[in-house]
Amino acid sequence: MSDDKGREIGVAVLGLGNVGSEVVRIIEQSAADLTARIGAPLALRGIGVRRVADDRGVPVELLTDDIDELVSRDDVDIVVELMGPVEPARKAILAALERGKSVVTANKALMAVSAGELAQAAENAHVDLYFEAAVAGAIPVIRPLTQSLAGDTVLRVAGIVNGTTNYILSEMDSTGADYGSALADASALGYAEADPTADVEGYDAAAKAAILASIAFHTRVTADDVYREGITKVTSADFASARALGCTIKLLAICERLTNDEGQQRVSARVYPALVPLDHPLASVNGAFNAVVVEAEAAGRLMFYGQGAGGAPTASAVLGDLVMAARNRVQGGRGPRESKYAKLPVAPIGFIPTRYYVNMNVTDRPGVLSAVAAEFSKREVSIAEVRQEGMVDEGGQRCGARIVVVTHQATDAALSETVAALADLEVVSSINSVLRMEGTTE
Ligand code: NAP
Repeated sequence: MSDDKGREIGVAVLGLGNVGSEVVRIIEQSAADLTARIGAPLALRGIGVRRVADDRGVPVELLTDDIDELVSRDDVDIVVELMGPVEPARKAILAALERGKSVVTANKALMAVSAGELAQAAENAHVDLYFEAAVAGAIPVIRPLTQSLAGDTVLRVAGIVNGTTNYILSEMDSTGADYGSALADASALGYAEADPTADVEGYDAAAKAAILASIAFHTRVTADDVYREGITKVTSADFASARALGCTIKLLAICERLTNDEGQQRVSARVYPALVPLDHPLASVNGAFNAVVVEAEAAGRLMFYGQGAGGAPTASAVLGDLVMAARNRVQGGRGPRESKYAKLPVAPIGFIPTRYYVNMNVTDRPGVLSAVAAEFSKREVSIAEVRQEGMVDEGGQRCGARIVVVTHQATDAALSETVAALADLEVVSSINSVLRMEGTTE
């Protein structure tokens, strides 16, 4: 709006934790550059926190625990929400939007459940709602999907979008550690929260998958639509078998456009640990790093890689959004709005074809392999590879065998039935693991 030229852009930051403190630091330290890029200075009006005190590294008069009052102030143009998780962030953002403030948020948990409600409130008030930092921290992936690829047809988005689980799985792969000790290492190094459930059970990745699928396929997808499995059952034996098959194991978030023979389209959004061939681009993404591979009809394959979390990297994405929202205030116009016109149905996991890896212990006697193979064949699950190894007990005596089966593509429904039937076979003493295999299409 041209009236805004020459005046300050008032900013309220909600949250002064890992991300908020870095955002405040950059707003202060880069004030001159930001003013030049925006065309007006940013003025920090206040910072919302729970604990107001003078030992927090910012002038105490900026701090407030009255979030309602802060987001309602007339001299605030943009609210930057960095409190998480869903409430009170949702209420604060809605209040800000209803009062005509633009909003920038890094809150994936909230965006994965309330994107529609928040987008509608932004629409009603003709203001911006930006959330680049909600997926994969510093890595620009929301803006490429909403803007750079706005004219293309996105077919698939697959990524490693949770640094905690990627650190744990990388440790298990490189050191042979079991899940428990790799998690303990991740906690000691600050990569895992005191309660790691959201990360290790895949909830965080599922929230990001919902956001990515919504944007990529112009369809509203929420966290409840995302099929989710975590990494807690992945064992060091799975890594050993994966290695023997030329693979590693990664927690993947996969968003896919599915087209049936009649040309009808559906979308799939799912999160699970999967075997990935070592020559796949996601196999070499290690430690706490994130990466997202986007496949679009005309653009082909694009890969985005970098730091998916951490105060400063996440603040970079937040600042990018803040500059966009502030420029729009100065120059007029708005950023991209929610695009949900396609309204594609979400396919249940039972219909999704993938390859599988099944690891089981069996009795070591003739005919076992054919009994196992028959259960796959009865349900038309085609076997691509079988490995069998003898097992010995502590006294060095043979005590059964382990069979690893890798299938060609099969549906989850057919595979689940097969596994249930295998578990009932007298010769199968245990099903140790069932994992999917991604990155190959045979
Ligand atoms: P954090 O370190 O836990 O900080 C949260 C901040 O919000 C604290 O300053 C806290 O105040 C304030 N806060 C929480 N509840 C509040 C309430 N009811 N009223 C007032 N203030 C409240 O969190 P973070 O790691 O910076 O994450 C912030 C957001 O960014 C979350 O949505 C997160 O999912 C997202 N995000 C984080 C990362 C990352 O690497 N950390 C990456 C991507 C996205 P006090 O300091 O007074 O307790």
